[in-house]
Amino acid sequence: MNSLCSGWLVLPDVLRRQLWQHARRAAPQECVGVLGGQVLVSGPNSVGWEAVALYPLPNVAPDPLREFLAGAPQFVRSLAAMRLEGLELVGIYHSHPRGPARFSGVDQARAAYPVPHLIADLLGGELHAFALPQGGEIRLLGVRPDEVWPDEL
Ligand SMILES: [Zn+2]
Repeated sequence: MNSLCSGWLVLPDVLRRQLWQHARRAAPQECVGVLGGQVLVSGPNSVGWEAVALYPLPNVAPDPLREFLAGAPQFVRSLAAMRLEGLELVGIYHSHPRGPARFSGVDQARAAYPVPHLIADLLGGELHAFALPQGGEIRLLGVRPDEVWPDEL
């Protein structure tokens, strides 16, 4: 376990399905999108997020087979849409059509937001989330862990 204790993200099944659908639709290119939601817990050793909305974005990277770059106007619009709903950015996702479910050096270097970075490995069918640039893994949960989070406040 990473000593940075990166926390957890509630990703409901409906959003998980939308994420995989987007990843499959975009293949063989990488897909990219963002998650809106709220911060549930923010303590010294743990952060818990809950996603409630998914916003697919276009991948405008020069080589979308191997990298991702979200379209800037669409990204700004997604943030505005979140604000209208009272949500904030709680995740950024992209796919690795040929795996692995692990961040690359480029992913790490380009991470600009302190939110979970989700990576969908289409080859292995795995979805993992990481705190970048530190690199700690973030647990993905299907439902809000009501039995856990009061202890973490
Ligand atoms: Zn990547």
